[in-house]
Amino acid sequence: MRARIIPVADSGDTVPEDTVVRDLLRETPPRLPPWLGYDETGSRLFERITELPIYHLTRVERRLLERHSPEIAKLLACERLAELGSGSAKKTRLLLESHLRLHLRRRPGPTAAATATATATAYLPIDVDRSMLETSAAALCADLDGLEVTGLWGRYEAGLEWLRTHPGGPLAVAFLGSGFGNATRAERDALLGEIARTLGRGEGLLLSADLDKGREALETCYNDPPGHSAFADFRLNYLTRLNDRYGADFALDDFVPDAVYNAETSTVEGRLRALTDQEVSVPGLGITLGLPRGALLNVGYSVKFDEQRLAREVGAHGFALRSRWLDEEARYGLFLFRRHED
Ligand code: SAH
Repeated sequence: MRARIIPVADSGDTVPEDTVVRDLLRETPPRLPPWLGYDETGSRLFERITELPIYHLTRVERRLLERHSPEIAKLLACERLAELGSGSAKKTRLLLESHLRLHLRRRPGPTAAATATATATAYLPIDVDRSMLETSAAALCADLDGLEVTGLWGRYEAGLEWLRTHPGGPLAVAFLGSGFGNATRAERDALLGEIARTLGRGEGLLLSADLDKGREALETCYNDPPGHSAFADFRLNYLTRLNDRYGADFALDDFVPDAVYNAETSTVEGRLRALTDQEVSVPGLGITLGLPRGALLNVGYSVKFDEQRLAREVGAHGFALRSRWLDEEARYGLFLFRRHED
């Protein structure tokens, strides 16, 4: 089966991309939306981060999915699995495999493959990076018999809107890679509202979250070890994106990337610090940024949770925590919520 990629347009209710970028650049300190960093280069750089031995998130999440996917797939009990920020979907593949096995077992037929095709289950990844979406969708279609992949190319809100206007069988939403933590509280609330509007009563939301483990561990995890530049390159790519997309004149050498832990908000902040006084014009957005020496740009926001905080936050939008799976050291968790009211 071939994968389809559908561009999903923002609806009238969604703030246009350029307006989001302009508004965030005007905040103090200026900030950039996570999605801006993910073009083909950005996605490749992110994959390099996931391969760093100090970056436990991907490894631990993969192990949790290897171990618990059969149970999770059973509890999700969906026919359509949508995923926010699917990226390479390498870990999601584990869940999809369990999901398909379950499906095949439920509907025995003349031959497994023929039956699977007839009752295809759907995977609907949502991502802004078209290149990654195409590659991951094609790989999944090639390898997993009976899986129908429809890549929704656009921002989360537009993908969710598409799902609302294209109803089908029972749906579940996955949000892996601790992507939920890459947004501020207000942004998370807005997104949870959108997810809640998309899911019906009883449908599932699978969220992963990195758990708070204090300054030392987290600053080690989010900064390059000696001899590596995966984080630095990924953060600087945000400036390249501003240069390419909006004709900005950021000189990459004038910024130093790092990440610090903010204990007050349990957040790791990925930053770029200006090394000299500079005035950077961003003609495509009609703004100029005055950045004195030492000024910071925020290019990554990673909230760290504990179970209660997460359950409270998500619960406020009509979800109940149904199950959760943590690694032995309680560094990282998968949390399955169920929508319980309209
Ligand atoms: N879930 C994958 C990838 C994580 S990287 C994993 O765990 O490995 C984050 C992914 O989310 C990137 O592929 C990026 O393009 C996408 N993304 C980030 N913000 C987005 C947004 N607002 N809308 C759509 N995609 C987004």
